[in-house]
Amino acid sequence: MGFLYRSTRNENETATASEAILKGLAEEGGLFVPDEIPELDVPFEELAEMDYKGVAYEVMSRMLTDFTEEELMYCINGAYDKKFDTELIAPVKYHHGSYILELFHGKTIAFKDMALSILPYLMTTAAKKNNIDKEIVILTATSGDTGKAALAGFADVPGTRIAVFYPKNGVSPIQEKQMVTEKGANTFVAGITGNFDDAQTGVKKMFSDKKLAELLDEKGFQFSSANSINIGRLVPQMVYYVYSYTRLVAAGVIKAGDEINVVVPTGNFGNILAAYYASEMGLPVKKFICASNDNKVLYDFFSTGEYDRNREFILTTSPSMDILISSNLERLIYRIAGNDAAKNAELMKSLNETGKYQITDEMKKNLYKFYGNFATTDEVAATIHTVYNEDGYVLDTHTAVAVNVYDKYKAETGDDTPTVIASTASPYKFARSVVEALLDTPEGDKVSLDSLDDFALVDELEKLSSVKVPQAVEEIRTAPIMHETVCEKEEMEAVVKSFLGIE
Ligand SMILES: *Cc1c(COP(=O)(O)O)cnc(C)c1O
Repeated sequence: MGFLYRSTRNENETATASEAILKGLAEEGGLFVPDEIPELDVPFEELAEMDYKGVAYEVMSRMLTDFTEEELMYCINGAYDKKFDTELIAPVKYHHGSYILELFHGKTIAFKDMALSILPYLMTTAAKKNNIDKEIVILTATSGDTGKAALAGFADVPGTRIAVFYPKNGVSPIQEKQMVTEKGANTFVAGITGNFDDAQTGVKKMFSDKKLAELLDEKGFQFSSANSINIGRLVPQMVYYVYSYTRLVAAGVIKAGDEINVVVPTGNFGNILAAYYASEMGLPVKKFICASNDNKVLYDFFSTGEYDRNREFILTTSPSMDILISSNLERLIYRIAGNDAAKNAELMKSLNETGKYQITDEMKKNLYKFYGNFATTDEVAATIHTVYNEDGYVLDTHTAVAVNVYDKYKAETGDDTPTVIASTASPYKFARSVVEALLDTPEGDKVSLDSLDDFALVDELEKLSSVKVPQAVEEIRTAPIMHETVCEKEEMEAVVKSFLGIE
């Protein structure tokens, strides 16, 4: 039946793939990690001839060992269909000296769709396999993009309900409108008067609250997670790194076996960890380039070996990366500690109590394939401007963080290995910041667009980019507001109970 998943904080807690997906989080706040990552024993030349679904099957079947072929194909076929606006699902395009892997062609125009369009299928299949008769309640904290992608995925899926918490003043207006206009009858959305870390901490607290779990059980519910702490998010994200590599093989840019670099604009460390897992499966990656915005806690960590979240939380133009506690880093810490749950638990306890921890020199040596750097808000705007001037291609603010950091990496190292940059959102999602960057003069004079509303800016962006306004934006222009709850972070549990009618 294959390997098991194990908690990063307790070596005795194991789960099958389907159990891990259902639970989301392990006990005591641990995360499920695979005991081993099997080799991808299909030649890249062969994968290069498959479509996205074919590659998805090969990668995911190695990781989700208790799903049958029939079950997995049902999930893959349900997810990667006409919801995406291109048959390629994740096109690779050459701009500014690198291969931009466009991950924003799904329903909510951010890369979160790549995993969240399949997660509901994986989750309901897992529930059936494990004879779960309870209604699954998906609890989600979002820095802006996970929320709508999870809502779109789980809306009106029988046997599920979903509650999403976002930082009231920490997302773009388009992101907020996408969430609060969600129509699904099983959905609940609330803004909290705090930042993303507050939302994530509140959600994790509910997960590990034994009394709350008992109450839910009694009322016929059980929690699961749509955040990247769920292994059911990470496994589908491994696919597109393999897919992009095989497209480069097919195009003759590289030969099978050649190394590439990957650059990932990073927040919660899920996307880049998926690339790392893909490399453990056999994808030849030379460097994992971790790009941060002004909240550069990861850059500091890679430089010094100390993770320290005790700092000011900065609101930037790349809000989906405004995060100081990168949850999935824990999975890498566990790995570089030699899969040592006790050691990892000790570091996470320190993070919890003091806001920081220091890894050993030996652990730091195991990070040699990672390179971290960051881009300031001004640098992000300048990069959007520069790339647009080169060939008319418009980057979103998050992807621009990655492109800017890659430029720095190249300047520092002279490394000219072919490089894939994960492009995580459509520029339409961040129209205001993007249009501002495009219209800034080379002398650095800023334009003021304060008098224009966000949809006027969307129309402006259409003119500038010659890329049609995506359906995801068109449909929220006039959509009615369905969700108006705003609460304090201390009230999260109460509003969830009221949503479920179990006060
Ligand atoms: C979520 C998100 C990120 C960060 O991804 P992580 O997996 O949390 O590191 C980057 N860019 C965009 C647009 C996102 O939505």
